[in-house]
Amino acid sequence: MDYNYLANLLFPNVKETVEDVEKRFPARELPEGAKVTRFAPSPTGFVHFGGLFPVTVGERLAHQSGGVFFLRIEDTDDKREVEGAAEALIKVLAHYGINFDEGAILNDEGIVSDHGIYGPYKQSMRGDIYHVFAKKLVSEGLAYPCFSTAEELETLNAVDKKTEIKNKDWHIDAEKLKEEKLKARQFTIEEVEENVKAGNPFVLRILADGDPEKRVPFNDLIKGKLEIPENDEDFVLLKSDGIPTYHFAHAVDDHLMGTTHVIRGEEWLPSLAKHLMLFRYLNFKLPKYLHIAQLMRLDENGSKKKLSKRDMGANMEDYKRIGYAPECVMEYVMTLLNSNFEEWHTANPEKSYTDFPFSIKKMSTSGCLFDFGKLNDVSKNVICRWDAEKVYKYLVEWADEFDEEFASELKEDAEKAIKILAIGRGGKKPRKDFAVWSEVKDYMGFFYDKFFKICDQYPESFSHEDIKQTLTAFAQSYDSSDDMDTWFGKIKDIATSLGYAADMKEYKANPEAFKGNVADISMFIRVAVTGKMNAPDLYTVMQILGQNKVVERISDMIKNL
Ligand code: GLU
Repeated sequence: MDYNYLANLLFPNVKETVEDVEKRFPARELPEGAKVTRFAPSPTGFVHFGGLFPVTVGERLAHQSGGVFFLRIEDTDDKREVEGAAEALIKVLAHYGINFDEGAILNDEGIVSDHGIYGPYKQSMRGDIYHVFAKKLVSEGLAYPCFSTAEELETLNAVDKKTEIKNKDWHIDAEKLKEEKLKARQFTIEEVEENVKAGNPFVLRILADGDPEKRVPFNDLIKGKLEIPENDEDFVLLKSDGIPTYHFAHAVDDHLMGTTHVIRGEEWLPSLAKHLMLFRYLNFKLPKYLHIAQLMRLDENGSKKKLSKRDMGANMEDYKRIGYAPECVMEYVMTLLNSNFEEWHTANPEKSYTDFPFSIKKMSTSGCLFDFGKLNDVSKNVICRWDAEKVYKYLVEWADEFDEEFASELKEDAEKAIKILAIGRGGKKPRKDFAVWSEVKDYMGFFYDKFFKICDQYPESFSHEDIKQTLTAFAQSYDSSDDMDTWFGKIKDIATSLGYAADMKEYKANPEAFKGNVADISMFIRVAVTGKMNAPDLYTVMQILGQNKVVERISDMIKNL
């Protein structure tokens, strides 16, 4: 068969050669060892927490090595594409401090546009480029057209989909595939000419030369040494609308864009044999691959399950709404990505995760376990080291979007809010009251009349009369200009005069001799003033609330009991 003739028949409008295209994408000039990585999402409108893993690894490897990190939008599946999804995705990543050097990124007007000379960075705009390589493969007898009826195409595509997606079903429908493959391969130039003339659609298939009984050794930088069965599937390169499949676009784009390290989810491992074949057929240098294990969660029975789209914690939008600070999420991602991160961070508490020497070798080969408890611990540890001004700024940003009422209180008296947030900050053992911004109102809302709720749920072991008596004595003696020692001295005096132990030792030695102890007195007052059993340092709380408010709340409680 005259393959050149066939190539011209199928691609009459493709005038450029592969050499021409290669010239448009010159090799990158980068320092020795610099890595070129990319994030290549499909704009489906859903940003999965798991997506932060490849993206963070890509960003770290590129920026740690003085390389380039770029964004390519893989929008070849228009059925899955959601309007505005690319913009939203870029914004979400920027929120987490992930920025790209190059690619389809936002311009000053917030519109996705190309930055860099290796574009277009949206696959839907690269049709002409794929067709040049497709034509070359046809002219070398390495790819062929498959004209089939819509129904036949559907069967073939279904087979493709199955073999692609299900790792364990690698050989599913192998017989059927073989049969279809042989049928599809048998055509004459005349038949092709006839079909082209009639305008019949075709898909372009690779002519696979692999023997699945044979295995190719392969070194994945995370998974280690693997044995990949050779590909014998004549998989689709161009769909009937001329749009490339992921496999074909991946090979062409990562080659032309100079990607040195392909970092992607392990769900692509079953497709690797196809990619090895494509790079070989196209004479491209194979990049290094890192297949990242999928994120797992524990189900009700304690067994590991993939963190799927519907699971709590999968959708990045939730993190924003719940109010996780991006720094906290990123630190958590780092603890999951590199087993030595936590140790490093304990030794370098003031440093950012971007100072950490990230290493591929320390990555887990199997799926990390996603755990909200751990995320919250990390988050509390991060936030407790921040100063009150920073906490205030983040909190207001969050509240502006998700709790306007709280935001307006916070903004009305910023100084007061910052004083509140400063309680227990600094020092060796800072308070760790909240992990997310949506917990803060519950923690400090009582400072504002609008959110304060009177609570008269005192422990039953104390009579209301006793509580009233104590509160009355305290209200009479309270003077907000007292220093802490004087203030506490007065509480102790009240304790002694009303039959409570002012000294804990004394109380423990003989509890029967007292109505309670000084901690109980503080609790009576705390509940009246804050509406809560647990609240930050009571002296400071009262200082912020001021004389009148303290006395007012205590009087209200006395009336209420
Ligand atoms: N578009 C593919 C995805 O979203 C990208 C895989 C890759 O990084 O190569 O899964």
